Amino acid sequence: MNIFNMTIHELHNALKGKQISSVEATAAMLERIESVEPQVGSFITVTPEKALVAAESADQRIARGECHLMTGIPMAIKDIFLTEGILTTCGSRILNNFIPPYSAASWEKLRDRGAVLLGKLNQDEFAMGSSNESSAYGTTRNPWDLSRIPGGSSGGSAAAVAASQAIATLGTDTGGSIRQPASHCGCVGLKPTYGRVSRYGVIAYASSLDQVGPLTRDVADCAVMLEAIAGHDPKDSTSVDTPVPNYSATLKNGVKGLKIGLPKEYFIDGLDPDVQVAMDAAIETYRRLGAEFVEISLPHTDYAVATYYLIATAEASSNLARYDGVRFGHRAEADGLLDMYTKSRSEGFGAEVKRRIMLGTYALSSGYYDAYYVKAQKVRTLIMNDFIRAFADVDVMLTPVAPTPAFKIGEKINDPLQMYLSDIFTIPVNLAGTCAMSLPAGFSTTGLPIGLQLIGKPFGEEALLQAGYAFEQATEWHIRKATI
Ligand code: GLN
Repeated sequence: MNIFNMTIHELHNALKGKQISSVEATAAMLERIESVEPQVGSFITVTPEKALVAAESADQRIARGECHLMTGIPMAIKDIFLTEGILTTCGSRILNNFIPPYSAASWEKLRDRGAVLLGKLNQDEFAMGSSNESSAYGTTRNPWDLSRIPGGSSGGSAAAVAASQAIATLGTDTGGSIRQPASHCGCVGLKPTYGRVSRYGVIAYASSLDQVGPLTRDVADCAVMLEAIAGHDPKDSTSVDTPVPNYSATLKNGVKGLKIGLPKEYFIDGLDPDVQVAMDAAIETYRRLGAEFVEISLPHTDYAVATYYLIATAEASSNLARYDGVRFGHRAEADGLLDMYTKSRSEGFGAEVKRRIMLGTYALSSGYYDAYYVKAQKVRTLIMNDFIRAFADVDVMLTPVAPTPAFKIGEKINDPLQMYLSDIFTIPVNLAGTCAMSLPAGFSTTGLPIGLQLIGKPFGEEALLQAGYAFEQATEWHIRKATI
């Protein structure tokens, strides 16, 4: 097998058994990146020299017998994560010269375990988008069909796994940004419960919704990554101080007697027929494995997208006020301070980011605050309560990730509302603050991957991973590779 197609656990065994060194694995990945990058465009920055130095020190650790599952594993992370000494753009022109003085806590945890960073991955600007088309650094292409989007905003993170440019990656998910690209690129992606993983050093989009999570080739790898990054961090006061389970240990517990909810609002008429077929087959597979299905209702689903676009944009308008050309990032030539602020922001931000700053500022303005922002917060509580009520009867929920497989580049870019609706099944999970996972569940008649979403109870990642693992063992969708 090619090194670049390996999973974390396969490469770990090869490293531990000294069949291969991390330097060799890293060099093979760098070569692979170079050969497919012109077609896929997953990366904003590749860091070959730093990667080889890190691989060498991983090899020394392995020689000393210190071989954590992540030691020597070449991986890559979304450009939203701060990386000390390495350009971090967040997909925006306004940060085209920003070299952070410190690193994100989640990445540091992986690095401290010996993971090797290959580079920083493309994304929608400030994670605002579902297609990667809002990046200031070009659109990443879907490795399964280069005329299509990889999904977004963690499009580079999903495409890099699918195109075998990294063994695993990290992304972030505010309204679906890990799950939707994972679904479109045929990989596993997990959005942990809000508070499970530290957000310290992650460039903020909508702080009450943002969460960090892994994108991997299989569920076992997802468990390994989550174990490494989860946990309380005093530097993020919203991270929760609850023990991190040993997710790998309970993976194989099976789904016999597991109660799976099917929210009727998620199986709608407009669902793509290929997606429907994949969902029906998945339900059948779980039945065969001994799970029970219960029809449930999440009655406020219809309001989720509107609620999200008020709360997320309000928080974004506040978070993005810091980009003023004074302390970091792009600074325009200007006459005086006010002119400098205006010009730096006008030149630095793209159209989608500007649209959202305006929307969010409007929703927060004194005359409209109660009618929009406060009301959205109330509806958010109703949506949260829907989940609490439904989880009284079921252990997990099963839904599609996206209403259609990956769409064409350019198809929705001029129609923001259509673009926003592609996250209809993922957004409610962020509003409710709970966890969910996307896993490969089939292919369209045109050969595009289709993902299945499992939604878990708050801090119920263990059950998700167990259910995901059982499905993966019973199917072969995750084994198919894009031919690139
Ligand atoms: N597509 C959604 C948005 O544009 C979600 C993005 C995300 O999860 N970061 O906001």
